[in-house]
Amino acid sequence: MSLLFLAPELNARSWVKHLRRQDPDLDLRIWPDAGPPDEVLFVLSWKHPLGVMKQFPRLKCIASLGFGVDHILRDPDLPTGVPVTRIVDAAMVAAMSTYVLTAVLTHTRQFDHYRQDQTRKTWKPRTPKQPSDVRVGVMGLGHLGLDAARMLRALDFQVFGWSRTAKSIEGVTSFSGDEGLADFLSRSDILICLLPLTPATHGILNRQTLSKLPAGAYLINVARGEHLVEEDLLAAVEGGRLAGACLDVFRQEPLPESHPFWCHPQVTVTPHVASLTYPKDVAPQIIANYHRVRAGQPPQQVVDLKRGY
Ligand code: NDP
Repeated sequence: MSLLFLAPELNARSWVKHLRRQDPDLDLRIWPDAGPPDEVLFVLSWKHPLGVMKQFPRLKCIASLGFGVDHILRDPDLPTGVPVTRIVDAAMVAAMSTYVLTAVLTHTRQFDHYRQDQTRKTWKPRTPKQPSDVRVGVMGLGHLGLDAARMLRALDFQVFGWSRTAKSIEGVTSFSGDEGLADFLSRSDILICLLPLTPATHGILNRQTLSKLPAGAYLINVARGEHLVEEDLLAAVEGGRLAGACLDVFRQEPLPESHPFWCHPQVTVTPHVASLTYPKDVAPQIIANYHRVRAGQPPQQVVDLKRGY
């Protein structure tokens, strides 16, 4: 029974190398050469074409090649009863935290201003705010949000968190649910989105929520482009309500050439690189799950399909 690599946007070569290194006898197929459909046991997916999964009658697991599973659950034709798993990897968590810290410190130490001053050869010292005077709000306190919150706390920022269920995290003031959102936003001089994309979080960064942030607040979106109503962010920045944003994810990727974010002096754009999946790091957990499924055991890192993450 085979493992099918079904990720048309990714380069399969490195994946094949590292998956085979874990299991040299692996029966590995690369989409669209799936072989007989009833031999496919386990699918590795990244943005698979909608509707393809139902053609594999003996499929026992759909594994996401990243932390998020929104690209799988957007498929209205998933076979019922097949577990969906995701990656959880310490190096990816650390990479996300270093991205978040870079974005926070670039903003608070005003590097964007100095870069502009440098092009004009202008010597203009500015007094940075001390971390203890800056309130950072982290939306989503899962694997990624929790680590970023702890790192920010270690640098002495005031850290606030928002999640679906209440949390008790040392040094982090926690808010939860719809009832906690407005209070959380009103304390976020810097807002970081690390939520999964689900029906409940789609478009959550919009005119109404952005208007609850303190004047001059800064947004960092490293979760999914669909969390943000991009026009509402532009209006808030251009209207002077927000200081700017650092964005790693977009509604349309690659970001179209005509998009106003590209040339906006208060918006930093990075090409969805905050935390990349390295095949060599995650191949062991994928192959371990494949062997579990082959042995009739349930896979690990299964997501809750009702919650959507
Ligand atoms: P987890 O599933 O570990 O955690 C999700 C967190 O969000 C939990 O704290 C959860 O609350 C909270 N949450 C979910 N729904 C809601 C809601 N409706 N209201 C309030 N809080 C909610 O996710 P990860 O930390 O692993 O990943 C988060 C996302 O980051 C991924 O789904 C992916 O989209 C994105 N990502 C982006 C990358 C990039 O390179 N830009 C790379 C990797 C991931 P609770 O704890 O109560 O359940």
